Amino acid sequence: MSKKSALVTGASRGIGRGIAIELAKAGYRVAINYAGNLEAANEALALVRAAGGDGFIVQGDVAVAADRIRLVTETVAHFGRIDLLVNNAGVGPKVRADLLDAGEESFDRLFAINLKGPFFLSQQVAKQFLTQEPDANGFRGRIVNITSISVYTASINRGDYCMVKAGLSMMTKLFADRLATHGVNVYEIRPGVIATDLTSGVKEKYDKLIIHDERGITPIRRWGRPEDVGLAVRAIAEDRFPFTTGASFDVDGGFGMHRL
Ligand code: NAP
Repeated sequence: MSKKSALVTGASRGIGRGIAIELAKAGYRVAINYAGNLEAANEALALVRAAGGDGFIVQGDVAVAADRIRLVTETVAHFGRIDLLVNNAGVGPKVRADLLDAGEESFDRLFAINLKGPFFLSQQVAKQFLTQEPDANGFRGRIVNITSISVYTASINRGDYCMVKAGLSMMTKLFADRLATHGVNVYEIRPGVIATDLTSGVKEKYDKLIIHDERGITPIRRWGRPEDVGLAVRAIAEDRFPFTTGASFDVDGGFGMHRL
């Protein structure tokens, strides 16, 4: 059986890297997209190979239309088809600003990278899916969007981030509805607090909230790891949820449940 292939945005570091490694363990070939950190991308590729997979690295800013086109054409050129798109690349605000002071520059940056990029990349990949023959499981492709607990958790010092992630959550449903009859399922994964470069600046704050406080913000009292998210994407990539689309999975240590 020929190997399946995935395009994972922002796969050089953090959660995206964890996803790429788990996909490699499932036998996927992975297009490892990165924005600027070539060294990290090469490391990720080496780890993918060590995990039994293969792939290549591809630079590209998901906020830039020409780069998105190149990501897809290069992935198809390498692999012949795309079986899975993971919209993982994302950034937080450079400065956390109170809702009443939050500026347009940060809003525009987050909107472009975290929502506009995934939307138009999904549109492009969806059109690629429609040209493909269904695989052995009847799928022309799959899309996974990495959102956040911020989809439903109000953080008034990074409202822009919360709003674009909520938009990405809706995007999951839109693409799921549009593509279901074409052999494409679409999923959302909502990570909780995961130890990556993105959260390294708030380590002390979250150590306290998760581990040291008498009753942690998560019932599972540890930070999430990139592989926790990777395992969830892998389950989707291995078609463990063929009758599920437009749905979200919480990978958050139980953060989302109401507790009394
Ligand atoms: P991270 O460690 O900062 O890694 C970000 C990744 O995205 C890097 O590979 C980076 O590439 C890439 N990237 C950044 N801007 C890009 C752009 N414009 N185009 C293409 N790639 C770009 O972040 P992370 O914590 O792994 O977060 C990954 C995703 O999970 C994000 O969508 C984030 O919102 C979401 N998330 C994270 C957490 C958490 O607690 N960490 C929780 C919930 C959701 P370079 O290496 O080249 O810079």
